Amino acid sequence: MADLTTAQAAAVLAALGFDNARRDVVAAVTGFQRGWNLGAALDVDGVVGPHTSDALRTSLARHQQGLPTMSAHFSFVEFRCNDGGRFPECQRIWVLRDHVRRLEAYRAHVGTPVRIVSGCRCKRHNAEVGGASSSQHLFGSASDIQALVSLAERRQLRLFAGLGFQRSTGKVVHVDSRDRSGHNTTGGTPTAPTEWQYAT
Ligand SMILES: [Zn+2]
Repeated sequence: MADLTTAQAAAVLAALGFDNARRDVVAAVTGFQRGWNLGAALDVDGVVGPHTSDALRTSLARHQQGLPTMSAHFSFVEFRCNDGGRFPECQRIWVLRDHVRRLEAYRAHVGTPVRIVSGCRCKRHNAEVGGASSSQHLFGSASDIQALVSLAERRQLRLFAGLGFQRSTGKVVHVDSRDRSGHNTTGGTPTAPTEWQYAT
């Protein structure tokens, strides 16, 4: 099949939750390419070539069937910055493929759906929610998740390089892949993750 035109790609991306697709299609295509996990990794170049066109068609068909659009169990829209689209510089969805792969492994381990509370965050939204200035959410390599497992259990999984947990419950509510983000200031790895606790 022919490559999608820019307008066709923008329409597909908008359907997948990229509400920036019509004003900044290159950013939306780039975000799609970074996270897409339903086949071989795509080149992350913002260009709608043959592989990206096929991937967009695959995700759109799944969307129309009510199936997850990014990986076997996760959709792009779940990771969209929660700023409500108020900041024009926000690229909306830029989650890292490797982070999604780890979330899939985690989901398989716990055996239940995993709700993403907060995925990507642009600088302004990160600041307004009180995130750390070097938060992994800025780089598409972190997720705040529904509290399901204990820190000890999560540590055994050896999936994530950063783990934030609730002091009150001991459950993990933040996971990140800082070792893949290019911004690993603490040196955390899946075998020796950076850990911290939240007061609430
Ligand atoms: Zn934002």
